[in-house]
Amino acid sequence: MIILKGATKIYAGKPAVDNLSLSVEKGEIFVLVGPSGCGKSTTLRMVNRMVEPDSGTIMVNGTDIRSQSPEALRRGIGYVIQSIGLFPHMTVSENIGTVPRLLRWDKSKTAERIDELLLLIGLDPQRYRDRYPKELSGGEAQRVGVARALAADPPILLMDEPFGAVDPLTRKRLQVEFRELQRTLHKTVLFVTHDVDEAVILADKIGVMRQGILLQSGRPESFLRAPADDFVHDFLGTDYSLSMLSRLKAMDYCCQTYPGNHEEQVPVILSTASLKEAFSMFISSGSEYLHIQDLHGESRGFLSLNHLLQPFAGDAHEQ
Ligand code: ADP
Repeated sequence: MIILKGATKIYAGKPAVDNLSLSVEKGEIFVLVGPSGCGKSTTLRMVNRMVEPDSGTIMVNGTDIRSQSPEALRRGIGYVIQSIGLFPHMTVSENIGTVPRLLRWDKSKTAERIDELLLLIGLDPQRYRDRYPKELSGGEAQRVGVARALAADPPILLMDEPFGAVDPLTRKRLQVEFRELQRTLHKTVLFVTHDVDEAVILADKIGVMRQGILLQSGRPESFLRAPADDFVHDFLGTDYSLSMLSRLKAMDYCCQTYPGNHEEQVPVILSTASLKEAFSMFISSGSEYLHIQDLHGESRGFLSLNHLLQPFAGDAHEQ
């Protein structure tokens, strides 16, 4: 779906991106990680021709991107960036409707699409469609930015630190929401971040960059066993294996019966929580059991620390 072959961009005689090859399959999230200045954004921007490579080939949906005008190319590619740049004098619905208006969709089709997208991103159309960006929280603005990129239903999304400008809690929520959204959208996504945890939560594949070079790429778990070199190992960090637990759902390790009598004293964890969150609650509470409940407070069973620590317990499936 997106293929880069030997893509290179030179600035002031120095390669910002150096002979980089990668492919993002249809419906996959490929996350590029690496320290600031390693060439992630430049790589991303070459895909929609905001930056023209000095050499190499880039194919999108089987076509060399140079065979289309940048404008035509960008119609099939949604682009989401940090501090989203919503137009301040336009309402939420006008912002989301930017591309449909450019494409001259009729008004009722556009209005329908806007409401559909607002519902998709969890904002009540009636409450939000006429608001201005300054009347939104950071997280809401970021969601609207995602909706705007999705408006014309492009098969491809480029996302450049899209959740970088919000507080850590909102950021986590947006990551989980986007991952859930992707289960129904199946977009082909090239995503850039310097945050390893974010990469682990979202990625089907991760690529680690340094100084313009893609050092290693593959499924997140492949980095556990065989990091390409010390830089990759150190950049992913010693708690990379712990981060991997955020890909697993605590609910999948349910359901033990609680052997005691005082169920009401067992710490509660939401059924949407990850195994990483469950472990951190085991540690902070000192309890050997957690009570899994859904959003409505209904019991979904118990999680047992002993059971989790038994050999083979980690054999469950990824989320
Ligand atoms: P990252 O996204 O990983 O932080 P970038 O792709 O933004 O990195 O930048 C890679 C390198 O290219 C950096 O050294 C940056 O200073 C340089 N660079 C990026 N854009 C330009 C530009 N328009 N002109 C000159 N140098 C640039």
